[in-house]
Amino acid sequence: MEAKRRKELLEAARRFAEEVVRPQAEELDRRMDPADCFSWELVEQGDAFGLRTLTLEPAYGGAGADTLTTAMAIEELARGDLGIAVVFAQTLKIIQALQKAATPAQKERFLPRFKEDPRFLLAIGITEPETSSNYIIPYDHPEAPFQTNAVRARGGWILNGRKHFISNGNRARLYLIFAQTRLGVSLVEGSTCFLVEQGAPGFTIGRVHDKLGERLTNNAELIFQECFVPDENVLGEVDGGFEVLARFFPASNAYAAASVLGVAEEAYQRTLQWTRTRVQGGRSLLEHDLIAATLAEMKMWLDAARAYVYQAAWAADHAEAWDPTLGALPKVLASQVAWKVVTTAFELHGGYAFMRDMKTGMEKLLRDAATFLHSDGANQSLLLKAARFIRRSEGVPTWMPYLEAAA
Ligand SMILES: Cc1cc2nc3c(=O)[nH]c(=O)nc-3n(C[C@H](O)[C@H](O)[C@H](O)COP(=O)(O)OP(=O)(O)OC[C@H]3O[C@@H](n4cnc5c(N)ncnc54)[C@H](O)[C@@H]3O)c2cc1C
Repeated sequence: MEAKRRKELLEAARRFAEEVVRPQAEELDRRMDPADCFSWELVEQGDAFGLRTLTLEPAYGGAGADTLTTAMAIEELARGDLGIAVVFAQTLKIIQALQKAATPAQKERFLPRFKEDPRFLLAIGITEPETSSNYIIPYDHPEAPFQTNAVRARGGWILNGRKHFISNGNRARLYLIFAQTRLGVSLVEGSTCFLVEQGAPGFTIGRVHDKLGERLTNNAELIFQECFVPDENVLGEVDGGFEVLARFFPASNAYAAASVLGVAEEAYQRTLQWTRTRVQGGRSLLEHDLIAATLAEMKMWLDAARAYVYQAAWAADHAEAWDPTLGALPKVLASQVAWKVVTTAFELHGGYAFMRDMKTGMEKLLRDAATFLHSDGANQSLLLKAARFIRRSEGVPTWMPYLEAAA
């Protein structure tokens, strides 16, 4: 993507986060009913800034942003609020996966509608009450299939089962739903991805989860009872659900990592300001060497994690440079770094962080930072996923993929 265009998009993300999201985020976050924390107005305003259609191909009227630019934009959004960043990040990455896997006819059916409707969000339903790390690691044996299943019917499939924790679950217009289509084999071998529209007969929304953080995103249960899905809504191949997922994971991991880094960057910047103005021992906290060194360490962790995320996001669009561990590990590092940075920021704000009425915002950042220890795959499970690739790896020189990508 051209540098000037990339800068324009990132400035738009920054302006939207600063001028529109930040002033409203705290009030929305504190609403008691989790469903009320979501705001259609913010979605529509973000759309007006061009953010909802950032990854949509230019042929359909989008910006066609690459994965690296999108990750940078998501970090900017998360500095305003993590929840709003996730509302957009889900949509941006699902559109990317859809564009890669959809037939021309499917693109014609869904992408113009997506472009025209400022409230057209997307969601992906993989996780089930009994199936989560099973698909992350994944367990490639018949004892761990998806519980949600689809059986053949005339002209399509009948879907039964339940998904939970789904981001944008009660708000999306269109869902990518994974279900077992072959019994007696693993979910890797026998699952299929279906496109399901909200309002399809037999598809209902269950409860909206009440969450600790990232409250401006709604997460919900999806319930399928004898839900008919026509053949033309199969995304990718029948029994090829994992092929679709494989295209989804690289950007997904990078965007999850970028989101939580936005939270940590915000905590770091606020702490820098705070230590400049808070005086103890006759001078600002920042004039005390221990505090200044702590700030330097926070910056070091943030920059190191961000470099890893940029590497993964860039490689997601350069197959020659792709290493499959990049689809698992950047989010693990970013979420661990974010937790470390935000808890340190919390500490440096003293009791002012703990007292909500002192309005440092630290308590919200702490709750938000916890989100990605689990979301997009629990960290331990992602380490196990990377371990599978490492066991199979052949030890090419670390610089080789970059030379090949640059050639
Ligand atoms: C905020 C949020 C948003 C989400 N959004 C979505 C979404 O949009 N779509 C979607 O499909 N899912 C979504 N999820 C689900 C998310 O991907 C799963 O929560 C995640 O994979 C963890 O699943 P679980 O909570 O069932 O943990 P489990 O799989 O039950 O794991 C529990 C613990 O055991 C560990 N563990 C599991 N297996 C092993 C093993 N073999 N060896 C060692 N340790 C193991 C795990 O690492 C974890 O620490 C979301 C979750 C959250 C929290």
